[in-house]
Amino acid sequence: MKFGNFIPLIIGLTLGMALGYQGWWGFFIIFPWIGGGITVGAIVAEGKRGRKAEIGRRLSLLLVAPVFIIFLGIMQRENLQIEETVFYTLLLLHTGILTRVLIHYAIAKIIGPLIWGRGYCGWACWTAALMEWLPIRENRPIPKRYTWIRFPVFIFSILLPLVFVWMGYDWVSNHVKEEGAIILRGKPGALIWFLAGNAVYYIAAIWLAFKFRKRRAFCKIACPVSIVMKAQTRIALLQPKPSGNNCSGCGACNKHCPMDVDVMSYIGQGRRVSSSECILCGNCSAICSQKAIR
Ligand code: SF4
Ligand code: SF4
Ligand code: SF4
Repeated sequence: MKFGNFIPLIIGLTLGMALGYQGWWGFFIIFPWIGGGITVGAIVAEGKRGRKAEIGRRLSLLLVAPVFIIFLGIMQRENLQIEETVFYTLLLLHTGILTRVLIHYAIAKIIGPLIWGRGYCGWACWTAALMEWLPIRENRPIPKRYTWIRFPVFIFSILLPLVFVWMGYDWVSNHVKEEGAIILRGKPGALIWFLAGNAVYYIAAIWLAFKFRKRRAFCKIACPVSIVMKAQTRIALLQPKPSGNNCSGCGACNKHCPMDVDVMSYIGQGRRVSSSECILCGNCSAICSQKAIR
């Protein structure tokens, strides 16, 4: 068993300890749970070749999703979507209070991607936890003319809460339960935004997946979260790279990439796969008969 499989668990335990002692017991659970789920997935995937390797990552997504949906979303009324992040950024600017929502964003989507790129998308996203289990075998490329839609969706996601605030929506009274604490617990208002936002995401994700015959169609076309991680992913520490073995030019890696990355071109030129679309899923490496990608 590779030591590398245990790195997510070690990171999870370290973050859980470091943040748990800062004032909220939940961090002791959340981070080791997420790291542990990814480690279990990596262990299951180890040694598997071809499409069989996907089962590890799909399992990881399934294990991690309850943290975000049940524990944080429903039990803690914590909405980790972009809209709530905008609300809490306003709070940070006004009061200096750093909340759990912003801690999640900082670790999973701003700073973390400098190390693991869009590994969050590949192994821990709760929307992907559903998409990856949809009964769709095909992986058709998404026409480029649709992939720009994410950008206006991103702008809309930022503007929506600002418009609500401008119209007088008292989000602090409706969303924040423990004002003044370092870590704030949500109120029913936050739960309503969480349920509504996720319902929209899941409905769109299912519809797009079946329409385009690709499980990750939502990621390619509509998800605004991907925009936040793109720049860091280009320079991330972890990226698929050439192993030194010769590429035969078979094209299997491109065909099985869920994010339509031109992997063959990167590997053929002896370059790391620095595409901002890579979600570090490992499909390309698992499918390559020449073992040209590691
Ligand atoms: S692109 Fe969006 S929906 Fe897709 S995995 Fe990443 S965060 Fe999740
Ligand atoms: S990297 Fe591997 S899967 Fe991709 S084209 Fe080359 S030999 Fe085929
Ligand atoms: S380039 Fe490889 S690791 Fe990245 S998304 Fe495509 S198949 Fe997955």
